[in-house]
Amino acid sequence: MYKIMTAGPSQVRQNVRDARALPCTNPDIDPAFYDFYHETCALLSKALHTDQTAFILGGEGILGLEAACASLTEPGDRVLVIDNGIFGKGFADFVKIYEGVPVLFTTDYHEPVPLNALRAYLQNDHDFKYATVVHCDTPSGVLNDVEAISRLLNSYGIMVVADSVAGMFGEPLDLGKSCIDILCGGSQKALSCPPGLTMIWVSDRAFRAMEERKTPIRSFYANILAMKNYYKDQWFPYTMPVSDINGLRQALDNFLDDPDVFDRHARIAGAVRETVRAAGLSLYLRSGMSNTVTVINVPDGITDRELLKEMAEDYNILISGCFDVLAGKVVRIGHMGESCNRPDVADTLCAMQKVLEKHGIRLKCDMKQTFLTLTK
Ligand SMILES: *Cc1c(COP(=O)(O)O)cnc(C)c1O
Repeated sequence: MYKIMTAGPSQVRQNVRDARALPCTNPDIDPAFYDFYHETCALLSKALHTDQTAFILGGEGILGLEAACASLTEPGDRVLVIDNGIFGKGFADFVKIYEGVPVLFTTDYHEPVPLNALRAYLQNDHDFKYATVVHCDTPSGVLNDVEAISRLLNSYGIMVVADSVAGMFGEPLDLGKSCIDILCGGSQKALSCPPGLTMIWVSDRAFRAMEERKTPIRSFYANILAMKNYYKDQWFPYTMPVSDINGLRQALDNFLDDPDVFDRHARIAGAVRETVRAAGLSLYLRSGMSNTVTVINVPDGITDRELLKEMAEDYNILISGCFDVLAGKVVRIGHMGESCNRPDVADTLCAMQKVLEKHGIRLKCDMKQTFLTLTK
């Protein structure tokens, strides 16, 4: 078994695996399951400080992104796609599939979305049904201030879809202080479940927009409106993956029982960044690094594939490469959720150093020792 230190999926705690092995009911028929699902969704809302309704959807995190666009977009709708990363830009594809018109607001991928530039842009053009934005854009690791961005968009009456799949539960997010109409999350990042579930938090305004559509939502599986009355009607549009949801509930309880979660992410991520710089390696970002992932430029003398392969084969540790415009340029250490622990991060840095040195790349410090000292 590899030690999973990727930018998601993350490690899964034993009690979550045990919860996934509990006996199964029939979730379509058993009223106790509706209560359990309902209670779990209420805890998801509590975890993000909101009374906005949460839902768990049977499908990996991408489902939430597509469902948000499928449910809100009507043909011809203009949608502001805030593009300062690969996932950010990717929203344009979902908007197009549902025949909306994506308008890209593109900013430098090396730093978070500058609020002033967005404010100036909106002064000239704010005729958008909704906007999309990513909290932690995992390929670069940039962390956007989605709370402030959503409030700015709301001041123009623009609805907001936010992807916090790789932010939530590792980075603080107060949905109650935001104006996010559909927030998307996934099970396999900082919440530390296996992949397979999407979580969404939906505002009343978003439900109204879906109800007031002139054309029907062009999807069955990605239709958020179909979930709205599940509890009153005791009916789900498709059979819920009960074992996945049992696991998610345990992971959520783990999160809610751990007052140190955000501090731990900040401590470990801060020390990883400092260690990487002290070693003479360079970070992809100039500012705005998320505490869930560290993105490191591939140094001269090795390729990303060699580094990943040798860390896996010789040290049993999986880290991530990247894709799209960052393919081959960076490698990523995920320190989110259960993977965000001192011994595993120390081992990862140690293995990285050994592989780099084997390729003749000299580092300026002992990364493991530096990291352990910084986190003592
Ligand atoms: C992981 C992730 C998703 C889900 O995408 P997969 O590539 O299928 O894992 C969506 N958005 C962000 C920002 C993510 O990090």
